[in-house]
Amino acid sequence: MSEKQRIAIVTGGTRGIGAAISVALKRVGYKVAANYAGNDEAANAFSKKHDIPVFKWDVGDYDACVQGIAAVQQQLGPVDTIVNNAGITRDAMLHKLTPQAWRDVIRVDPESMFNMCQPLILQMREAGFGRIINISSINGQKGQMGQTNYSAAKAGVIGFTKALAQEVAKKGVTVNVICPGYIDTDMVAAVPEKVLEGIIAGIPVGRLGSAGEMAHAVLFLADENAGFITGSTLTANGAQFIAG
Ligand code: NDP
Repeated sequence: MSEKQRIAIVTGGTRGIGAAISVALKRVGYKVAANYAGNDEAANAFSKKHDIPVFKWDVGDYDACVQGIAAVQQQLGPVDTIVNNAGITRDAMLHKLTPQAWRDVIRVDPESMFNMCQPLILQMREAGFGRIINISSINGQKGQMGQTNYSAAKAGVIGFTKALAQEVAKKGVTVNVICPGYIDTDMVAAVPEKVLEGIIAGIPVGRLGSAGEMAHAVLFLADENAGFITGSTLTANGAQFIAG
C-alpha cells in the first residue's frame, strides 16, 4: 500500500464474497464504499459491524451507477479501485428459461461492467492509476447446464476485461478477472443439498472455497506492485476446472 490514500468501490460489497473483499481492503488501508441492491437489513448490519459506509443502487442501471458513484466520491474522494463483484443467478434449463430470467442476469452481469467502469475510466486514465477487478465464475469459463444466462453473462465479463485491459494498459490502469469456483456463500446455499454434495465430490481440494480466499486474490491484484498483471484471468476453484 502506498502513501496515497486508495479509495475502492465494491459492488455487492455487503454480503458473501463482496463483504469479505470490502473488509479485506479496509484492513489494508483503503477507504471502502460497499454497494448493494436492496437488502437494507444485511447492509446496515454489515456497515455497523465493520464501520464501512454502504450505498444502495442497482448496478444494472447506468444512471443509478453514475449517481451512486458521484455520491461515493463526494463522501470518500476520487475512486481508484473498482471491484465489480455483484452478480445474480436465475437458473433453469433453456427450454424453461424465461426472457425475464435471461435479461435479469445479463443486466446485472455483464452490463454492470459497462455501467460501473464507463463513468470512472476517464478519471482513472487521467490520474495515471487504476485497478479494476471483475468477478466472473468457473461457469463462465466452462459453461454449466441450467445456466445458459449465467454462463453467457460471466463469459462476457471475461471478454470485457480483456478488451478494457488493452485500452488502458498505457495509462497505469490494470483490469483483471477472477473466476471463483464454488464458494461458501448464500448463493451456493441456495443449491439443493444433493446437488451440492455432487459438486463438492468434483472439487479436487475436497471442499468449497471461502469468501476470504477470494478477497485475498483481490488484494493481490489491487496492489500497486501488480502493475504488470493486466488482462489476466485468475482461476480460484480448488482445481475443479483448470483453464489453459
Ligand atoms: P451473494 O448472493 O452472497 O451476494 C450478492 C451481493 O450482490 C449482495 O450484496 C447483493 O445486494 C449484491 N447485488 C446483487 N444484485 C445487485 C444489483 N443489481 N445491484 C447492486 N448490488 C447487487 O453473492 P456471492 O457472494 O455468492 O457472489 C458474489 C459474486 O461472485 C457474484 O458475481 C457471483 O456470480 C460470483 N461467484 C460466486 C460464486 C459462489 O460460489 N458463491 C462462484 C463463482 C462466482 P443485496 O444484499 O442488497 O441483495
